[in-house]
Amino acid sequence: MQSFEYRQARSPEGAIANAGEKTRFIAGGTTLVDLMKLDVERPASVIDINGLPLDRIEVSPDGGLKIGAMVRNSDLAWNANVRQRYAVLSEALLSGASPQLRNMATTGGNLLQRTRCYYFRDTNYKCNKREPGSGCSAIDGFHRIHAVLGGSEHCIATHPSDMAVAMMALEATVHTRGAKGERSIPLNDFYLLPGSTPDSENVLEPGELITHVTLPPLPQSTRSHYLKLRDRASYEFALASAAVVIRTSGGRIEFARVALGGVGTKPWRSREAEQELHGHEANERIFRAAAEAALKPAKPLRDNAFKVELAKRVIVRALENTTQTA
Ligand SMILES: Cc1cc2nc3c(=O)[nH]c(=O)nc-3n(C[C@H](O)[C@H](O)[C@H](O)COP(=O)(O)OP(=O)(O)OC[C@H]3O[C@@H](n4cnc5c(N)ncnc54)[C@H](O)[C@@H]3O)c2cc1C
Ligand code: SF4
Repeated sequence: MQSFEYRQARSPEGAIANAGEKTRFIAGGTTLVDLMKLDVERPASVIDINGLPLDRIEVSPDGGLKIGAMVRNSDLAWNANVRQRYAVLSEALLSGASPQLRNMATTGGNLLQRTRCYYFRDTNYKCNKREPGSGCSAIDGFHRIHAVLGGSEHCIATHPSDMAVAMMALEATVHTRGAKGERSIPLNDFYLLPGSTPDSENVLEPGELITHVTLPPLPQSTRSHYLKLRDRASYEFALASAAVVIRTSGGRIEFARVALGGVGTKPWRSREAEQELHGHEANERIFRAAAEAALKPAKPLRDNAFKVELAKRVIVRALENTTQTA
């Protein structure tokens, strides 16, 4: 680990004022510290944002939810409002990591966690995301955990967050503050596809701070659910997961949102699946059609081809689980 300057911020303004090109904010530290120890992240300065007043969950005037960037994953998962109105988010959070990690991990940090691609985390290997232009060890190597949607010839790493997948289906907005002022960025526009620059993962400018995330209100009687498939039942990242937000009336689907985890290079919203579902009777045939549509653009490789069928099954099962309880 290289040496770095450490500061504690007392206000968002102070955090931003002291942030330079090679600064990293530290929240729970559950991603950043690991990556610094592995020499993957090498910030010149680290600004501790644990003292910032960004740890509240509030109901917004429109009936939605405002979630501070420093709200811990466990507090968000067990919040009564979240459990009652945004079950998909609570379920996604509780499916991730371990209780100890969730007690530390924050909303902002979770959105910005880095990929679990083993080559990214090991500096002995070539990796375009870590070292632009060096090559991708995964494409010609072992790529069982890698993405089948959104990859490029330069990178096929998945985004590992469960929470972000649920937030994608909830149409969350990320609010930031930086040198150029405040911004509100729909989560759908927040993450970038790898293309030829996999080191650029999102639209944040250097030194830009996430202050909070907002969720719009959901229409009455909307149901939601997160289903995650993985190699073991807990303390494991998704091989394929689905977040579903759906409202049915008289057995017919009035609206549906579907997002996928574990299979995309970013938390993956599937408009194709949503289009298949919209206006149709909720049944297994239409769920399967939605799953087929969602995975149509998939480009599997040798070791991760199983994810295509796995993702289809997780979509169907998540839709069944959500509508059967409606
Ligand atoms: C063993 C293990 C298992 C895990 N399993 C899962 C899992 O199953 N599912 C899952 O989704 N996650 C999992 N995680 C990841 C975990 O959820 C993340 O590490 C955590 O959410 C990151 O939050 P943090 O506050 O600790 O972030 P930090 O490590 O503090 O920061 C992460 C990144 O975000 C930046 N950052 C943090 N806050 C802000 C902010 N407000 N504004 C701008 N930048 C900011 C930091 O600079 C850094 O680059 C696991 C982690 C571990 C170690
Ligand atoms: S998949 Fe992406 S993160 Fe993994 S080695 Fe290739 S470039 Fe690096």
